[in-house]
Amino acid sequence: MLEPAPLPDELVLPLEGGLSTLDMRPAVKSGQRVLRGQPLVRGGGPLSTWTHASTSGTVRSLESHPVGHARRREALCAVLEVDGEDEVWPGLQPPDPSQWDTPEKLATAVSRAGLAGLGGAVFPTGVKLAATRRKPIHTIVVNGAECEPYISCDDMLMRTSPRAILAGSLVLMALTGAARGCVVVERDKAEAVEALNRELAVLGAPRLLTVVTVPTIYPAGGERQLIQALTGHEVPSLAYPTDIGYLCQNVGTAAALYRFLDSGEPLIRRITTVTGRGIARPRNLEVRLGTRIADVVAACGGYKPTVTRLIMGGSMMGIALESDAVPVMRATNCILLPTRKELGLDLDEMPCIRCGDCVAVCPAHLMPQELHRAVKGKRLDALEDLGLFDCIECGCCDVVCPSHIRLTESFRAGKQGVVQSMDLEARVRWFGARDQLRRERVERWEAEYDAGPGKEPPPGQCADAVAEIIERVRQLPVEAIES
Ligand code: SF4
Ligand code: SF4
Repeated sequence: MLEPAPLPDELVLPLEGGLSTLDMRPAVKSGQRVLRGQPLVRGGGPLSTWTHASTSGTVRSLESHPVGHARRREALCAVLEVDGEDEVWPGLQPPDPSQWDTPEKLATAVSRAGLAGLGGAVFPTGVKLAATRRKPIHTIVVNGAECEPYISCDDMLMRTSPRAILAGSLVLMALTGAARGCVVVERDKAEAVEALNRELAVLGAPRLLTVVTVPTIYPAGGERQLIQALTGHEVPSLAYPTDIGYLCQNVGTAAALYRFLDSGEPLIRRITTVTGRGIARPRNLEVRLGTRIADVVAACGGYKPTVTRLIMGGSMMGIALESDAVPVMRATNCILLPTRKELGLDLDEMPCIRCGDCVAVCPAHLMPQELHRAVKGKRLDALEDLGLFDCIECGCCDVVCPSHIRLTESFRAGKQGVVQSMDLEARVRWFGARDQLRRERVERWEAEYDAGPGKEPPPGQCADAVAEIIERVRQLPVEAIES
C-alpha cells in the first residue's frame, strides 16, 4: 500500500530545471505566501522546466542550497516554511491542448508544468514530445521496467495507479499520432501486470495499447536496450529512439502527463523508494518535491547503526550524497542506505584473472579490465583510446567480477584524472568542445521549434483525441481508478 510521506516543516525547492535556464527567474520573493501548484519561477523557453510550490506556505528565503546532482553541489532554491494547510493555487486549470499548435507551444506548456522523465534522467518531457511533431512516431513505449536493482517505485505506481499510466499512454499516442503503444513491465512483476491488464479492460482500451513483459535483466530498462529487447531494432549511436519512430516515456511521466491534462496539477510529487539494510523500515512513499532526505528517512523509522553510505538512485548508477539535507527532486527515484556488506566493501580486491566476464556484460562494449589497467598505470592517452568516456558507469562489470575489483569507482576516478591532467589551455579546449556540442544540440531543437507548425497529427484533431480520452476516463467508476 502506498502512503504519502508526512508534510515536513520546511521544503527546499531548486529553481533551476531543464536544459536551459536562460531568461528563467524567480517569480516569488522572501516573505511571500504561496499555494500548492503555484509556479515559483517565470520566463524561460521550451527547454526550461518550471518548479512549483509542492504545498502551501511562506517563502523564507531564496538561497544557494546543497542539492543531489552528479555535477553540481548547490543550486538556487526557494526555502518554504510549510503552513500545513496544503491550500491549492486557484490558478491551476486543466490545459487546452488545442492551443499547442506548434512544437514550441507544446514543449513550453509541458515544460511549464514541470514534467520531466521520472526514470531518473529528468529529460524535459515537452522537448521529447515536440521532437515527435517533426519525426513520424509509430510506437509509444511506456517504460515500467525499473532500470536498476533495489528501485521499486515504478512497480508501486503500476500496482496503485494503473489507470493514470494507461490514460497517459493513450494521451501520448494521441499527441504524437502513434499507431500503437505498449506498457513494458518486467516479467517478475505479476501484480503490476495484473493491475494494468485489469484496468485496460475497464478502460475498454483499444487493441493497439498492450501490456508486454520483458526479462528482468539489468540494464534492460534503459530505453535503447528496451527497444532492442522488444523489437530487435538497434538505436544507432548518437541517434535518439524518436529518430527511428519510437517515443519512450517512463510510467511515472505518463501518469503525471495524464494528471496535468485532467486537473492542471504540475509535477509536485513523486514516488520514491527508500531501501537498503541501513534503514529501519524500507518502503515506497509518495513524497512532495522539496522534502529533505532527512525527513524522508525519519518517516521510514530512521537510520540503522550499520548504514555506511547515503545514495540517491540505485546501487549501480546512484550518486553518493554528503548530506541528508538535500531535497527530493524529480530525479529522486530511490534513496538507498546500504551497509558495508551490501556494497561488497568488506570483500578484499584480488588480482584480475582475465576471465573476461566484465567484457561480456558491458552494455557499452568496452573492455573494463583493460580500462582498469590503464587507470592503475595512469596511462591517460590509453584511457581515451579505450573509450573511457563511453562508460555509462552502470556498475555491471563490478557485479560480475570474481576478483571483487571496484572497476566503476576506478573509471570515475580515471575520468577525473584525465580532465585534471590537462593543462589549463587543454582543459578550456576540452570543456569548450563539450559545451559547443551541447549548444549545437540546443540550437537544433530551438530551430525545430522555430520552423513552424509540426507535421501531424493536425493540432485540432490531436486536441479532440486528448479531450476524448480525458472525458472517457472521467466517466469510469471512481472505485476503479486507484486500487
Ligand atoms: S561501468 Fe562502464 S565499463 Fe563497466 S559495464 Fe558499465 S559501461 Fe561497461
Ligand atoms: S571480471 Fe574482473 S577478473 Fe574477470 S577480466 Fe574483468 S576485471 Fe578481470
